[in-house]
Amino acid sequence: MREMKVVTPKQIRVVETTNPIIRNGQAIIDVKYCGVCGSELHVFEGTHPKVKPPTQFPLGHEATGVVSDVSENSEGIHIGDRVAIVPLVGCQNCVYCADGKANLCVDRHVIGFQLPGCFADQVSVPVGNMVLLPKECSLQDGALLEPMAVVVHSVRLLDKVKYQSHQVIVTGAGMIGLSIALYLRYTHKFDIHIIEINEKRKKMAQDLGFKVHTDIGEALSSKNHIVVFECTGNKKVLDSIVENDPAPEMLIILGTFDRTEDINIFELCKREMLVVGNQMYNKEDIKQAAQLMATDFKNELQKIVSDRIYSLEEMQEAFEAAIQGDSGAKILVKI
Ligand SMILES: [Zn+2]
Ligand SMILES: [Zn+2]
Repeated sequence: MREMKVVTPKQIRVVETTNPIIRNGQAIIDVKYCGVCGSELHVFEGTHPKVKPPTQFPLGHEATGVVSDVSENSEGIHIGDRVAIVPLVGCQNCVYCADGKANLCVDRHVIGFQLPGCFADQVSVPVGNMVLLPKECSLQDGALLEPMAVVVHSVRLLDKVKYQSHQVIVTGAGMIGLSIALYLRYTHKFDIHIIEINEKRKKMAQDLGFKVHTDIGEALSSKNHIVVFECTGNKKVLDSIVENDPAPEMLIILGTFDRTEDINIFELCKREMLVVGNQMYNKEDIKQAAQLMATDFKNELQKIVSDRIYSLEEMQEAFEAAIQGDSGAKILVKI
């Protein structure tokens, strides 16, 4: 079978290798579609903190496919089932895993990073690490379930508090930021403002009907009870949220920040700001995203998928296009 590897920074090669063999508790999936994730662009560029080229495994964790083999211990998964991958593999022993929160597991592995990924003809995954696609959800749309699970999970964090807001600011109009905005508009009818400075992404957010600002202060002025979803991972943006008056009531952080980055506690306390961290998602969130993709919402989400679908041989181009942000927020590869 074919699989991709990042051989040196900014250089992808598609190589021939042997097909995965079936193990107890696992299923083999013929991969059909896989999305390119922002975190993988860091691996591609050689700037990811943990995974460096040459990569041991193919990347790819936003995938769907058809089950082509399954072990005896199948947990209700059958050959021919259309599934989406749940990339997060917890240790199954810690307090977090016992609570169904593999996203918090300290010894978790992620398919496409520490385990073989889905930019390949086949992948072997634990039977518990897949979700059946509803019949209304195509294999192509199913490749959006994993990023959508991040969105569903982060919005669910709002349930932890009695929030009063109907105004939301999303910083960063990438795939996650736009998906949050689309989801909140669809489900909660929120008044949504987006902060973005990149011209292409700004235009995309405007074309989707959102109010776009280049400055957080402008969006926050004279409004109360605002919830901010931080999706840039940019320290300057984070500081500008925390130090603004009037301040948002609640800040949910989805952007990936460096371990060494800090947040100004004095400014947080001064404004009594509620800050909630977000870490990926759980299987339940992917199931909820699958239900969502069986509704009209999928028409909304399709608007932020690139018009061009790449092939496995075109992986190099796919990653370069994702970096340039040229052709839509989400790049998909058909395997
Ligand atoms: Zn991802
Ligand atoms: Zn664990």
